[in-house]
Amino acid sequence: MCIHKAYDWPEQTAGYRLGVEGLEEDFAHVAKQGKEGADADNDIRDLPVTPARLIERITTDALISIRNAMLRVVDEAEGRHRSKRLVDDVVLTTFRELARQFSTPAISVDLRREYEGALKTAYGSTAQAGVRIATLRLEEMLEKLGVPSGQVPQQLADAISQAKAGRLGSVRLSNAVVDSIDEMSSVVSNAVFTDTQNRLLSGLDPAGLPAEFNLGDLRRYLVENHDVSRTRAATIARTESARAYHVAQIDAWKQTNAVKQKHFLMAFDACQFCQRASFEFGEGTGRSVAIDAPFYGAGEILNGTMGGSMVMSMPAFGTIHPNCRCDIDPVLDF
Ligand SMILES: [Zn+2]
Ligand SMILES: [Zn+2]
Repeated sequence: MCIHKAYDWPEQTAGYRLGVEGLEEDFAHVAKQGKEGADADNDIRDLPVTPARLIERITTDALISIRNAMLRVVDEAEGRHRSKRLVDDVVLTTFRELARQFSTPAISVDLRREYEGALKTAYGSTAQAGVRIATLRLEEMLEKLGVPSGQVPQQLADAISQAKAGRLGSVRLSNAVVDSIDEMSSVVSNAVFTDTQNRLLSGLDPAGLPAEFNLGDLRRYLVENHDVSRTRAATIARTESARAYHVAQIDAWKQTNAVKQKHFLMAFDACQFCQRASFEFGEGTGRSVAIDAPFYGAGEILNGTMGGSMVMSMPAFGTIHPNCRCDIDPVLDF
């Protein structure tokens, strides 16, 4: 079972979501479907900067800054201890210093603040796009249901015409959404730093280190175990842009006063847990939940359709797990 694979979005919303959550490989995938060879490569070079790509880039930058800051501590220690003899005391002192600097202001506060600020900006543009998309989706639904324009409530009609004109108009981000964006960026920023620190500290148990472990080994350890991979940044970008998109979408629907409930909309080729959510809350089931309620609460156990089970680490308002590309469907009600 692997829930870390990136799936395609649901067909109904894939076009919209590419523009918000598209990463380089998603655009490459789309370009290759349409074109072959040189043409496709040219298109990839000219990609739009989606909010998700922004999150991926600033996260990669943050991870590199963290690593460089750690290596500087080792450099300084090497400068202080020119003799090349193997001294585990020096290594351990250096490592403790590293841990101290990451848990106290010396290195990390500025990096964190910078990263958190950049995240907030990226979440903000995800949310703006989410509001617009949410409104356009309602228009699509009205058309599909054949609702005559005379029967569409004024508030919703206004929101739709504003969204079509490319403006947010009467539907803006509510204070609750702005707060939750702030909260999300601070949680993610802390996680990126704390996670990095914990991973490194847990791997450097003095009792488990070889006796001849020296500063060069410490440097190698940091480089090898500090994961600045694009996978890590891409997972954060995918997960977070989807969450911000859903939070904004729910907020916009609430503000139109025309949506009270939502269904779960499963991504194409989704995993057993998302299949379960679809069996329980998909459109065909007739079961929906209140628009701002989670499908599953934190701590709840979700039983997959293939026998696996998963404890929800956070409430699932739209997506179910990291890298999940599922979506939600509004239930029109006016
Ligand atoms: Zn899934
Ligand atoms: Zn999913």
